[in-house]
Amino acid sequence: MTDTIDGRQWVALIRAMAEAVVARRDYLSALDSTVGDGDHGVSLAKALGEAARQTTALGDPSPESALHTAGSAIQNTMGGASGILFGAFFMGMARAIAGRPSATLSDLAAMSAAGLSEVQRRGKASRGDKTMVDALAPAVVAAQTAVVESQPLAEAVENIAEAARLGAESTKAMVAKFGRAKFLGERSLGYQDAGATSMSIMLSALAEGLKGEV
Ligand code: ADP
Ligand code: MG
Repeated sequence: MTDTIDGRQWVALIRAMAEAVVARRDYLSALDSTVGDGDHGVSLAKALGEAARQTTALGDPSPESALHTAGSAIQNTMGGASGILFGAFFMGMARAIAGRPSATLSDLAAMSAAGLSEVQRRGKASRGDKTMVDALAPAVVAAQTAVVESQPLAEAVENIAEAARLGAESTKAMVAKFGRAKFLGERSLGYQDAGATSMSIMLSALAEGLKGEV
């Protein structure tokens, strides 16, 4: 387990995220079909697959280039509002590591905060609106806590992933204010948000990937 993440490792982590979402594609689409149009797993799996393909083709990119390429591949492949938002997360992360050869834990905290703020700039959702923000925002807090506590990177990424998982789970008790699910109003209660769930799956894949010495 390294204590920094360079461009090649980001490429491997993006691949790991794509594999994790592909493995849960049907589950994610099923979550979306209870409150949305049922396309989420299929479209995110396709978009991340394309992100993995394009970043792998870069060879030995900088972290910024790997993450920016992933973000634009997602935005160009994934239709609907959420493609822009998932792409924005990677674009925000890319910008926060511009010009640097690798990311430390404190970079990772800054990158995740920048990714979240890009998602919120584009999507306007806050915590409690039953979106991917409900997984991402607690993950950012966990990353900042890890920096303050000088946690080793392995422990930090596990805590980040766990915070996102709990955040995604917490969306069951929320009424949707954005996306197609908002048309259901109170009937969206009881279902876990698809985008928050996929964000949590992606962050778990990142934690697992780092433990596996990508
Ligand atoms: P679509 O609604 O276009 O079919 P998807 O099904 O792929 O898109 O994704 C739906 C997910 O997108 C939701 O579960 C939610 O997490 C996320 N989402 C929708 N609107 C917003 C928003 N304004 N801000 C953040 N996330 C959002
Ligand atoms: Mg959908």
